[in-house]
Amino acid sequence: MIKANNPGLKSWLEVNPNSDFPIQNIPFGIIRKNDAARPASRIGDYVIDLSAMADYGFFDNLKIKDLSVFYAPVLNDFIALGRPGWRAVRDRISEVFMDGNTELINDDDAKAQIIVALHDVEMMMPVEVGDYTDFYSSEEHATNVGRMFRDPDNALLPNWKHIPVGYHGRSSSIVVSVTPIHRPKGQMKADDQDKPVYGPCRLFDFELEMAFIAGGSTQLGDQIKVNEAEDFIFGMVLFNDLSARDIQKWEYVPLGPFLGKSFGSVISPWIITLDALEPFRVSGPEQDPKVLPYLDFTGNRNFNIQLDVYLQPQNMDSHLICRSNFKYMYWNMSQQLAHQTVNGCNINVGDVYASGTISGPSPDSFGSMLELSWKGTKPLKLPGDIERKFIHDFDTIVMKGYAEKDDLRIGFGEVSTQVLPAKE
Ligand code: CA
Repeated sequence: MIKANNPGLKSWLEVNPNSDFPIQNIPFGIIRKNDAARPASRIGDYVIDLSAMADYGFFDNLKIKDLSVFYAPVLNDFIALGRPGWRAVRDRISEVFMDGNTELINDDDAKAQIIVALHDVEMMMPVEVGDYTDFYSSEEHATNVGRMFRDPDNALLPNWKHIPVGYHGRSSSIVVSVTPIHRPKGQMKADDQDKPVYGPCRLFDFELEMAFIAGGSTQLGDQIKVNEAEDFIFGMVLFNDLSARDIQKWEYVPLGPFLGKSFGSVISPWIITLDALEPFRVSGPEQDPKVLPYLDFTGNRNFNIQLDVYLQPQNMDSHLICRSNFKYMYWNMSQQLAHQTVNGCNINVGDVYASGTISGPSPDSFGSMLELSWKGTKPLKLPGDIERKFIHDFDTIVMKGYAEKDDLRIGFGEVSTQVLPAKE
């Protein structure tokens, strides 16, 4: 067992039993503190400044040659240490904060520098994202979209069960929660009109997704084998892939998504390591027909992660509108990465690979307004006589994710996004 995952561990820091961040989590993120961006972890509602831990020598005996990784404004250099490095640092943080350890608890000066209240820091983008791929890996989502826009009887295209379908997205507009996003403007064409019009999009949507952050790099020509792919995955975040359905519908033929998808995607600030998610492995949906050998994997490579979406109109309470689960993914992350690199395309530390919208089998588990309101034909009813077909200006979308088993809960916190009117 990974030392830091021991479910019997308790921290001398106070942790609410319902917290997403018990001592078994030990996520990684970037905080802004005293005007500097620096790596951090979190236990309960306490943020742990890793640069301050390095200042006080807590990482001196981990065989990490260059301690500058603990002072960088993004996690890329830290992630480039590879799995032995992440695991050693995670174990070390766990050790220092576990009940019975006295290295830090009796040192008031060090504690004042290392431990920060969550509300005293601003969360920053955890990585510099070089490249971003968005997959389309939920069978229920792909089926729903196919039923709405193509043929209800042949909803999945012939390639879907053979290829983890995806496209290359835009990395410059991936931002961290709670960055607000402006409604995009662009071209749209209604079905009953001959010509397109220009203006603010009308069919603003979210997509409930998760994403993994690449933890390794490859050279051109290299191919990542499916059963070794997890060595290249550092961890996961929640991912709200905002979408303009009307812009998307007019532009996407024949080359796929473009400006209807590139105006903003928002991630949760704490990266939860694949190590921390180890207790929550499950098998995925049965894959029939059998996949080609380069996608044929062994072991349990899906993860049981509950996903909830809340919608909060301005000045109203937030309301649960979707409950889904990452385990519904037809194609797992290892297959996605094996497919991404099958042609010899290189990957880099910090790359973001998003799942695609994660819909479940029941209508209350659909991961977008497009599906929840079935293309606007079944408006969602919210408290206070409010209806929504798509997202309105000043609405806030909140996605939460957590894995639970026995008495252990490992969560992601949330990704929260308010939609602002289009800029003039
Ligand atoms: Ca997407």
